[in-house]
Amino acid sequence: MIVGRRHAVALGLTATMAARPAAAAGRVRLRLLETSDLHMYARDFDYYHDRTDPTVGLSKVASLIGIARREAANSMLFDNGDIIQGSPLGDYIARPGGLPPGAAHPFLKAMGTLGYDAATLGNHEFNFGLPFLEQSLQRTPFPFVCANLKRVGGQSFVPPTTVLTRTVHAEDGTSHRLHVGVIGFVPPQIMIWDKTKLTGHVTTDDIVEAAERFVPALRKRCDVLVALCHAGISAAPRTVGAENAALYLAKVPGIDVIFTGHSHRVFPSPDYAGLDGVDAVRGTLSGIPAVMPGYWGSHLGKIDLVLEQAGKAWKIADFKVEAQPIYRRDGATVVSLAQSDTRIEAAVATEHEGTRAWVGRPVGRISGRLTSYLALVGDNAVMDLINRAQIEYTRPLLAGTQHAGLPILSAAAPFKSGGLAPDNYTDIPAGPVALRDVADIYIFPNTLAAVRLTGAGIVEWLERSANVFLKVDPAIRTAQPLIDPKAPGYNFDTISGLTWEIDITRPNRYEGGKLVNADSHRIGDVRFEGKPIDPKREFVVVTNNYRADGGGGFPGLGGDTVILRAPDANRDALVRYFEQNKDVAVPSVPSWRFAKQPEPLLLSFETAPAAKDLLTGRPELKWTGPGSKGWDRFELTVYTNPRNL
Ligand code: MN
Ligand code: MG
Repeated sequence: MIVGRRHAVALGLTATMAARPAAAAGRVRLRLLETSDLHMYARDFDYYHDRTDPTVGLSKVASLIGIARREAANSMLFDNGDIIQGSPLGDYIARPGGLPPGAAHPFLKAMGTLGYDAATLGNHEFNFGLPFLEQSLQRTPFPFVCANLKRVGGQSFVPPTTVLTRTVHAEDGTSHRLHVGVIGFVPPQIMIWDKTKLTGHVTTDDIVEAAERFVPALRKRCDVLVALCHAGISAAPRTVGAENAALYLAKVPGIDVIFTGHSHRVFPSPDYAGLDGVDAVRGTLSGIPAVMPGYWGSHLGKIDLVLEQAGKAWKIADFKVEAQPIYRRDGATVVSLAQSDTRIEAAVATEHEGTRAWVGRPVGRISGRLTSYLALVGDNAVMDLINRAQIEYTRPLLAGTQHAGLPILSAAAPFKSGGLAPDNYTDIPAGPVALRDVADIYIFPNTLAAVRLTGAGIVEWLERSANVFLKVDPAIRTAQPLIDPKAPGYNFDTISGLTWEIDITRPNRYEGGKLVNADSHRIGDVRFEGKPIDPKREFVVVTNNYRADGGGGFPGLGGDTVILRAPDANRDALVRYFEQNKDVAVPSVPSWRFAKQPEPLLLSFETAPAAKDLLTGRPELKWTGPGSKGWDRFELTVYTNPRNL
């Protein structure tokens, strides 16, 4: 641990140090630790199922932090943002009255017990609005920095940079004052994702341009320069305003270390192998050490630097990068690799119990089991339910407006459709429905919004959604992978009120929100009330603020098509739906199917093993065996006759 303002503890040489070869004069080993995307997972607990979850939690990663600090003569700890929103604990604290005036935010206070040195803001910090964020930041036990966020008028929201002065112990036993410069970045897209909460209050700049503006002066004031980049790693050509800019940030001269995040992935890891400028084994971006520690406390990011004194300056002579997991999967079994730190558990104990009781509040009943295991291979009741609730909420709000006569459609995406982990699905049994189940169906605190589009525009929306499917070759008779692991489920919107088919033998029309194949159409036979959709007819589509304001880069959205911004969250529309329809039937509304092919098409995909329960009466679906890391493998046959059968 470094002796700083808050850590008045001087540690001598540890046993690990003593075992090293002869100490070089003025050589300092500095361990930099990172958490990112903690999303209010304070403990190893799953509030949706009211049970312990060994795959998450600051309390778990805290014990790894403790070990990592004890091993090192000098260490510092940083967080990379997406802190105050995520688990139901976050919603509980952000609810009206949940954070009394003058009170410290419980999660940030718990982080303070671990001696964080600095943090940056993630995009989700803005989800509950600026007043809540500012209140949360009032009494933080460590500084926040963000260089590409300003208040309207030019003042910075939090300081763009800071310099932390710490006493470090060299291998030869001498002590040195080390100046560590810290700069932070948020995705500029917050101005889209939380448009109404931020417009008129703050503005964002391009990450790389902000770095070019602030790094030269910061460099002159520090020995080591750490960038906290709440953005991921993409090798797509550089564009101004890009979201996942870490690789281009690494090219800005003067930065020594980059902490990344936001993508909820792990770096270094084979996920990033083969990208230009990326060493996915050693952990570098353009030669600069970099790490990304998963999400919800799944990993601790570690960058070990060997610093050597060259005159008055310090040079990085060597480095080692690791993303250390709190668990591993042994087949379907989760093996914990970290204890849960009881000090963190104690720090949030009151709020933890409060959250459990709060999410246990009953809101209604459902007549059957509701699951998202097969949400990416056909019609899904979870999407239908969200869409029903959204339409029922919106209809009275449009009555008497100029939009009243238009048909109301509704869009929803399977937020929990696997993706990064085989337990990331919704599975609610028949019977009473509690608030925790509604939060499980709709995990984001989005607010309800509606747009007005033509039939032609809605078809483009569906084209963008179809990105979740890989292109397959109709001539191949063996099973071909169906789902693009890089396409998140939250961008697979299905639109209730229409039926359509998706031809995955054709290439994507859109990629990353851009029109890439103007001649390709995967979406066909789009029908409204059983008849081909009129491309000129106008419709209202209910969605959320994220999508309506351009999140996901959907064509035709993010402009002036928004006709309704509801004061309530989409989740509140669901709560209201359950409260008003006492025994809700599991909906089964035909929406989409894969386009029939001249010959049967065999498609493979992975989902949770529990999907085996759902195969009765679904001859087109087959379980083919256990997959890796807790997944099971399945096959879908797209037959030559309609509706996959
Ligand atoms: Mn995040
Ligand atoms: Mg983020």
